[in-house]
Amino acid sequence: MTISFLDLKRSYGEIAGELEEAVVRVLRSGQYIGGQEVEAFEQNFARYVEAEHAIGVANGLEALHLALRAIGIKAGDEVIVPSNTFIATWLAVSQVGARCVPVEPDDGTSNIDPGRIEAAITPATRAIIPVHLYGQAADLDPVLDIARRHDLFVIEDAAQAQGALYKGRRVGAHGHMVIWSFYPGKNLGAIGDAGGVTTNDRTLADRVRLLRNYGSRERYQHLVPGFNSRLDPIQAAALTVKLRHLDNWNDRRRQIAAQYHQGLAGLNLLLPRVLDACVPVWHLYCVRHPQRDALRATLAERGVETLIHYPVPPHLQPAYADQGFRKGQYPIAERMSEELISLPIDPLMRDMEVAMVVDAVKASVTALG
Ligand SMILES: *Cc1c(COP(=O)(O)O)cnc(C)c1O
Repeated sequence: MTISFLDLKRSYGEIAGELEEAVVRVLRSGQYIGGQEVEAFEQNFARYVEAEHAIGVANGLEALHLALRAIGIKAGDEVIVPSNTFIATWLAVSQVGARCVPVEPDDGTSNIDPGRIEAAITPATRAIIPVHLYGQAADLDPVLDIARRHDLFVIEDAAQAQGALYKGRRVGAHGHMVIWSFYPGKNLGAIGDAGGVTTNDRTLADRVRLLRNYGSRERYQHLVPGFNSRLDPIQAAALTVKLRHLDNWNDRRRQIAAQYHQGLAGLNLLLPRVLDACVPVWHLYCVRHPQRDALRATLAERGVETLIHYPVPPHLQPAYADQGFRKGQYPIAERMSEELISLPIDPLMRDMEVAMVVDAVKASVTALG
């Protein structure tokens, strides 16, 4: 028996009737761009994340790209990003011609360390992008405080954090803008590419709406040079269905995380640290071990599929080779990339499967000494 990292077919099977009904509804509507399905999801999602406005877009990278455009980030600007995020956070900054200024994370939470942000601010800095990595909110209050004092925008990358709480309030509008990915493997995932932006700022929301649709509010009236980056109605309809199940799935992820936390305590393994201010949604459960590759291999032999998030930090990617970064420059992110291992945390895992993972990790870690 093998335990797969994430079984999207199994999760489809759980709600097949509802999902198929939604897709057929779009087919029969004849409305294949925009319209009622997109608006309904935007309203439901805005309410869910406690934001005033939600704008559906094509994917998470585009959500970041359009958010950066909406606040006017351009060539010559600097944007502070975590040194250990998924590369999309960086690529959006590069896409508008601005420069990524990496800041190292906290070793326990894996989120940006607010104590290191001010040293990275220069006269060219315009924005900070905290990422709520692995489903736990970054420590937002100190980040927002620094941003206020230095007159910077805060765009939260919440691609992995649908439903997460920070100080009792859902992630969705603490910063100026919040971006979402609904990539199928995310906690709230579509059946293809999808993304969104949420904000309490009407002007910024209107700008994203314009930018996603050719810079146009009325057909053939183009107010700004925009893009085609719309949320597909089939994806919106599927997301409306899945949003109804999100809290249940997140609860189950929390149960599994609690089982891992208990079962794996006291081993030679660094477990994720949760801030008192946070209730995470455990998009990923990542542990650290000095012999990560050996641990992964033994787990594979025992039938447990694991992944690495992420094996190469952005500053060492060939895509950023021309930016003058060097190995050793962001040692915390680099060490994470060498030691992290993500355990399966599929909300449809059965208790027996979770117990099997715990046993396999215990045995493997003990065998490695
Ligand atoms: C998934 C992800 C994105 C990008 O989302 P896509 O929908 O795949 O474009 C951005 N940031 C983070 C942290 C992500 O995990």
